[in-house]
Amino acid sequence: MQRQHLLIDADDTLWENNVYFERAIAAFIDFLAHSSLTPEEVRHVLDEIERAGGYGAASFARSLEATYRRLAEREVRPEDVARVHAFATDIRRNPIELLPGVAETLAYLAPRHDLVLVTKGETDEQRLKIEASGLEPTFRRALVVPEKDVATYQGLLDDADLGLDSGSTWMVGNSPRSDINPALAAGLHAVYIPHPQTWRLEHQEIQAIAGRTLLTLDRFTELREHF
Ligand SMILES: [Mg+2]
Repeated sequence: MQRQHLLIDADDTLWENNVYFERAIAAFIDFLAHSSLTPEEVRHVLDEIERAGGYGAASFARSLEATYRRLAEREVRPEDVARVHAFATDIRRNPIELLPGVAETLAYLAPRHDLVLVTKGETDEQRLKIEASGLEPTFRRALVVPEKDVATYQGLLDDADLGLDSGSTWMVGNSPRSDINPALAAGLHAVYIPHPQTWRLEHQEIQAIAGRTLLTLDRFTELREHF
């Protein structure tokens, strides 16, 4: 196989991420202890508030606080707000936990193909995770982008420094909404590797595009069989 450009997502593709948010949400719902709303109904309110917010732990803290202020059935004391914020900020205390076989698979791919990490989110937060992962040396570049939409991928293709071409460039990731659909729409190929803990707001039906290849793999290690 000719050398390909593999753009690779990070959160929930290379390492665990959303599972920590899910645990924080469960703890938050316990703490709120709403007398009539079910956990799913509380979750729905949080989802709607998060949809309007940004990414990362700081945005998540603000979303939890807004949800708490909207739903709390008791006086909101400063110590309650601090407790709610702690559910979110504690997420950053988790060490980076690579998904199975990720380091070995990247070591196999790195001499054969051009690897570029592409993650979205808050720059400092994502940079810290990239550094802590120890994976940065296997990538030619590690990019943090504020959003992953069609314009983002078109911008990467147009970036002369990156030197990509759509016919040999693939986006690899777990999110239909951020990694797969916009990359296909921008003219890239895509490798979808679902993660059972993918953030609810990243779910979307995958739209196949004529002439673009979409691979769906069960696990990251299977990339070795295709590249
Ligand atoms: Mg991801």
